[in-house]
Amino acid sequence: MQINFKQCNSGNYQECNSRDVEYIVIHYTANKGDTAKNNADYFAREVTKTSAHYFVDSKEIWQSVHDADIAWHCGAKNYKHKYCRNTNSLGIEICMLNSKGQVVQASINKAAQLTSYLMQKYSISKDNVIRHFDVTGKDCPAPMVENETLWINFKNKLCEVEQMKVYKYVPDMPDYAQDTFTRLFKTGVISTDSTGAMAVEESSIQPIMYLDRLTGGKIEKLPELMKLLENPEILKLIG
Ligand SMILES: [Zn+2]
Repeated sequence: MQINFKQCNSGNYQECNSRDVEYIVIHYTANKGDTAKNNADYFAREVTKTSAHYFVDSKEIWQSVHDADIAWHCGAKNYKHKYCRNTNSLGIEICMLNSKGQVVQASINKAAQLTSYLMQKYSISKDNVIRHFDVTGKDCPAPMVENETLWINFKNKLCEVEQMKVYKYVPDMPDYAQDTFTRLFKTGVISTDSTGAMAVEESSIQPIMYLDRLTGGKIEKLPELMKLLENPEILKLIG
């Protein structure tokens, strides 16, 4: 995905350099027939004390504020949302209307691609992709507030990010996997950090269990078994 960058005017955002991103907030620019580049140029030039991380039209994505910095896109005196704020969110502005004021589905589709990408990058669940309206009650993005179906269709385009479970200790794992992982742990195939904790993703348990069964419960011997396969005599045997 191509993401162009044009640095926002320093009067429009807060430098931060490092932070946790937990929400993605969707906006629309409320202009008719504007482009992502128009907006990036505008916010680089003018001091408005407002900003967004990304601007998206039907063809292009322009980033204006780095993800690690805080854009001023959903600040308010009063909030509807309990937790989502500028400090823990990314703001995406969609150039949603053509010159006639009609909704441009291609811009929404491109924004869905970008949103999915950012969800993966920061492990953000679909539930934490929300409208500006959901944060403060502002009528933004208006077409998606006034027509709920447009919003639901957008959300349906997003890939679901699974919150990957990571096991640190063998006793936390499913019973059927404990014996295998104890052997892998004891033989040093799975390494631990200085506190003795491993980091085994849930999704890697099944493949390792299959391999353990295929090797007759000797998965920790797999490197030796692989070496055997290099032996021409054995290769002849197994054809
Ligand atoms: Zn907004």
